Amino acid sequence: MMLMPVRTRLFNLRISSLLPSSSSSSLPFALPFRSSLSHSAPPHHVSATKTPKISISDTAKFVRTILFIPPGTDPEEVTEDMILPGSNIVLGPYVGDAKVKEVEFMGSSVRPKDCPKDDRPEFAMLGRSNVGKSSLINSLVRKKEVALTSKKPGKTQLINHFLVNKSWYLVDLPGYGFANAPESARMDWSSFTKGYFLNRETLVGVLLLVDANVPTKKIDLDCANWLGRNNIPMTIVFTKCDKSKNSKGQRPDENIKSFQELIKENYKIQPPWIMTSSATGLGRDELLLHMSQLRNYWDN
Ligand code: GDP
Repeated sequence: MMLMPVRTRLFNLRISSLLPSSSSSSLPFALPFRSSLSHSAPPHHVSATKTPKISISDTAKFVRTILFIPPGTDPEEVTEDMILPGSNIVLGPYVGDAKVKEVEFMGSSVRPKDCPKDDRPEFAMLGRSNVGKSSLINSLVRKKEVALTSKKPGKTQLINHFLVNKSWYLVDLPGYGFANAPESARMDWSSFTKGYFLNRETLVGVLLLVDANVPTKKIDLDCANWLGRNNIPMTIVFTKCDKSKNSKGQRPDENIKSFQELIKENYKIQPPWIMTSSATGLGRDELLLHMSQLRNYWDN
């Protein structure tokens, strides 16, 4: 509830300006999609016929640079109810069952080449230490302590594999940017994790976690830019979107906007982004739906 004004501002900032003025009265966020959000939604459940089609032909080019249009979706056909709340993500025909029924910890790998060797698709979660990665993993799988929170800097860094519904992996990568970590630990992160990204053929996408409460950090930008340069599909997952302001008075939507501005050079087309909070559950179901469409497309 508390987040609505933030979302509203964000939505107005980024997306409503793309729509014809006649449609803006239905904003903000009168999204029928939200109420029909279902974990067991069958493929093709997002129907463009439920609401009158909004013609965006004038702005279609621009829309492509703002919204994440998934495979199989015509940008000209996008309607407001296909956009996931609190994100720039359009749901397309590949969206499917997003319910987490079971999760198993499959083990930790010290080296990328020790990771499970099977064909299951996987999503890697990455972010600065303390960004809320463990909390988000626990929230996604609805377990309190699947991922251990508050790991200590400088400890051996591991790749942890969680098997979800016996069909796909959620992967917890070592956090980066420990404030007090020695230089050697940072270098370790870099070769270790980059090796994983460049060699993991079953990687569907990286969820790059960015704390929405702090102004853009260079290390997060470097990471996003490195992924962009290496053509590794990324979704930016803004965390802790349950505060309307931080102690310095900055609002999450301002930080989110400035992060997007700063990665523009490496991403001519906006990567998908979504606001989440493990504290309130904001964005959880939406993120799972987004992951389901990426996974189903990958599987095809
Ligand atoms: P990690 O180091 O990235 O795994 O981060 P953790 O999940 O251990 O969380 C770091 C700190 O952020 C802890 O104090 C959490 O309680 C806090 N935190 C995590 N998620 C949220 C969130 O959604 N909202 C708020 N307000 N705090 C959070």
